[in-house]
Amino acid sequence: MPGKAQVFLTFDVEDPVTPASDDAVVWLAELLRDKGVSAAFFITGDKARALVRRQRLDVFEALRSHDIGYHTNHHSTHPTIAEYLEPCGWADGVAEVARRERSGADLIRDLSGRQLCGFATAGTSWGPQVPGALAELDIPAHVHSFSRTGGGHNPHWYAGALCFARSEATGPVEDDLQDPARFTDLIGRLPQTIRRAAQSEDRILHLYIGHPTMFVNQEFWDGLNYASGRNPDPGSALVAPPPRPSADTRTMLDRLARFIDAVRASPEAEFVAFSDLVAARRITPVFSEGWFATALAEAAGPNIGTTSRLVSPAQLLHALCRGIQGEDIDRAGPGGEVLGPVERPRSAEQPGHPVRLDDKQLREVADSVCRTVAATGALPALARTDGIAVPAATLYSSLLDLVARDPAEGLRSLPGTVPLSTRAELPPVADEISEHYNRRVRRWMHRPDLDVTELTRLTRAQTWSLRAAAAA
Ligand SMILES: [Zn+2]
Repeated sequence: MPGKAQVFLTFDVEDPVTPASDDAVVWLAELLRDKGVSAAFFITGDKARALVRRQRLDVFEALRSHDIGYHTNHHSTHPTIAEYLEPCGWADGVAEVARRERSGADLIRDLSGRQLCGFATAGTSWGPQVPGALAELDIPAHVHSFSRTGGGHNPHWYAGALCFARSEATGPVEDDLQDPARFTDLIGRLPQTIRRAAQSEDRILHLYIGHPTMFVNQEFWDGLNYASGRNPDPGSALVAPPPRPSADTRTMLDRLARFIDAVRASPEAEFVAFSDLVAARRITPVFSEGWFATALAEAAGPNIGTTSRLVSPAQLLHALCRGIQGEDIDRAGPGGEVLGPVERPRSAEQPGHPVRLDDKQLREVADSVCRTVAATGALPALARTDGIAVPAATLYSSLLDLVARDPAEGLRSLPGTVPLSTRAELPPVADEISEHYNRRVRRWMHRPDLDVTELTRLTRAQTWSLRAAAAA
């Protein structure tokens, strides 16, 4: 039976410059509260500091019936997230995100007396270490992540975090509230938008309404001050954007109210609070006996798949290697999250291996995978033993072939030699994700010479950690 689309609304609250944007948060919070809808407001550390400075803690009061999330500490101030992650690898990058973002997250928790519902990417500034650091920041979910499963699953797990893909969000709706023709289009498209979501596997519709600041200003506060890598002179006041005439603000709020009414009138949609949705989807899949056969069946095929609701390809490779070590995987379950390879390639090392391994060599390379996962939480890019370096994808595909030949005994009683079959190094979705990331990340928010080579490599490598979130 087709269910209803679960609709959640999000806002990015970030303008520290214009006092009117504080009022806009209150108006939006009250408008939605009066309609019985709970939205998620993602706030920057600098916005929270501005609210303290302007004695506007009433804004947090107005958000009581809504979720409060985090939208970075300093948003467009340089270095932005991608800029400060530019020189980093994995572990130092995760530590850098935690170090630079913690004070803003803690401040918003202190001022609101609330837990944070999630982290929303600021503009186009992102790195895979952001989802990698969320557990340390005690933030349970990530919206507008550049990651996606390739199967449209929303949410999904990536780099250890429950992520909602930016490519799956509808909006910013605010663009359509400013113009009568666009608003008519928006309302006209709505039934189809809702139906598509209601008929999708996850039945989730993320309506990204946008920014309170755009209800009272005609331009963004940050482009005027921070474009192309420049910070304003220290001590000089930030340039304020041109205000929107108050009649236009009223029109936008009125259109938003009509838009909310139109969503509510749909028999195929229901509003959900983002925090409730996150709680319902952060569940661990149930591993009854037989799960391993299901995971193997899902993994069959020429590509590394990223749409299983049971395990990521990284978890499955780890499980296969544990099986080679003699563990009863079906009984033990897949174990915890496993990251994709995070090590920088050793420039001197070429992957090299014979076309087949004997059973002793196979046990040794499997053991090297288990040891790396135990030590780092991540797969090795190359599974090694004496003079042999087998790429993770080659090992993955060879072990799947081995079990497919004899599902009951395949991992337990190894043949004398095992042929190594190769396949593409990464899941196919890695190309989609890195293409989208590269196209968006170097926009006006960053220094024109920002080099995202290493961030892109890590972004691609973490596609090994992708899986669709289990459904409640
Ligand atoms: Zn933003």
